[in-house]
Amino acid sequence: MAGTQESNRSITIGRPQAMPGAANATPGFSTLALRAGYDPADHLNASSVPIYATAAYALHDEEHATAIASFESADDIYSRISNPTTGVLEKRLAALHGAAGAVATASGLAALSNAILNAAAGGGRILTSYRLYGGSVAALRDVLPDLGIGIDIVPDPDNLDSWESAITDSTRAIVVESVSNPLTVVADLEALAQITHRHGIILIVDNTLATPYLLNPFDFGADVVVYSTTKAINGHGNAIGGIVLESGRFDYANGNYPQFTRKQWFFKDRALNPRSVIDVVPAAPFTTRLRGLLVTLLGAAPSPFDSYLTLIGLETLKQRVTQEVATAEQIVKHLEADPRVTKVYHLSASGCEYKELAAKYLPRGGGSVLTFEVRGDSAENAANRKRAVLDALKLFSLQANLGDSKSLAVDPVVVTHGELDTKQLHEAGITGGAIRLSIGLEEPDDLIADLDQALDQAFGTASA
Ligand code: PLP
Repeated sequence: MAGTQESNRSITIGRPQAMPGAANATPGFSTLALRAGYDPADHLNASSVPIYATAAYALHDEEHATAIASFESADDIYSRISNPTTGVLEKRLAALHGAAGAVATASGLAALSNAILNAAAGGGRILTSYRLYGGSVAALRDVLPDLGIGIDIVPDPDNLDSWESAITDSTRAIVVESVSNPLTVVADLEALAQITHRHGIILIVDNTLATPYLLNPFDFGADVVVYSTTKAINGHGNAIGGIVLESGRFDYANGNYPQFTRKQWFFKDRALNPRSVIDVVPAAPFTTRLRGLLVTLLGAAPSPFDSYLTLIGLETLKQRVTQEVATAEQIVKHLEADPRVTKVYHLSASGCEYKELAAKYLPRGGGSVLTFEVRGDSAENAANRKRAVLDALKLFSLQANLGDSKSLAVDPVVVTHGELDTKQLHEAGITGGAIRLSIGLEEPDDLIADLDQALDQAFGTASA
């Protein structure tokens, strides 16, 4: 008979996970991060989640194949669709968010672009701002329009009316980063969710910088949450990955999303009657369609080895993020007191304009990413000094990554947001003197000493 083990091919993931050995009905963050979605008894008692390095799965017989093909069984059939190692990652992150469904992808950009393709299928439009990772801006501006998906940029992202009045009949989602890369602007998720729901459309939140430990966007009305798991969730800079999660609370049959109600051969039953994705999995239609039609057919599935590495990192997410936030706050204070620094962007910075939103959405802290601007007599001078600081850093690694256990520094204008033209950089608020730091787990004093000596070098104040 088909389907002896818990499903990896999604169907509903359930919230929160049934978890062997947990007496508490609602286990806490680290308990879930270490154990949710996995029962060793189902895996030859292996304590560590095994890496299922297999392309395909042995079907028992024709009946088994038919049950899988008609969605009666959620057993794995082929690893481009689902894989048991990746399935644990999906269930674990779903449990941490109380999500109804989750689909892991080969990268964070695959998570975001597949979520957008899923929401705006058939010529829909996406409303967003330039307060996004540069690669996300480029995907929205340079690739998705060629696939029939339009992008609208909100004129004033700090003004909620500006978001609402930019919604048109074709808008299918608002997309925001909860804490933006690189200037750590906090999005007013609850207010944005109210706006999108008033218009019968969804709110998609990239929660990469905030991390699942510091913020759960579903608590504030988000419908879809995406991550680059490459960052803090993995935390060790050893695998690229992403994930899409859904709340299970949005009504995709409200008329704005015919792709979810259309009867399709793809979702046929065993009697070969075409069905809609909502007919098949009403509790989690967004991720079921995303897995079935997009990840499966466009092919951005993660490798089980990368899912394994991500699971290992996820185990310590809370502990890493807690320490990184504490160190980041120390560094923010130190840089704010340095006259060679004109501005520091972090939710703990004294000049931060988003403190009220931060207190509401991120009471555990503003994350491990901060950005600071190097002083200059002119924009050119500031940019030259920025380059000199980056070149002089010894402990911070220059890397196009964030959320790593090692501290990283990068020039956003050249590297992470090089896709934005001068006007878009200006709209995003990124200046030529900006340096983005991602704070890791080294000793705070060592990181501060490295920044001091690099600033000394750049400003010619180094003691010989
Ligand atoms: N979202 C954010 C906020 C990011 O910072 C990044 C990468 O830097 C991405 C998405 C893309 O993730 P990936 O590099 O895993 O594709």
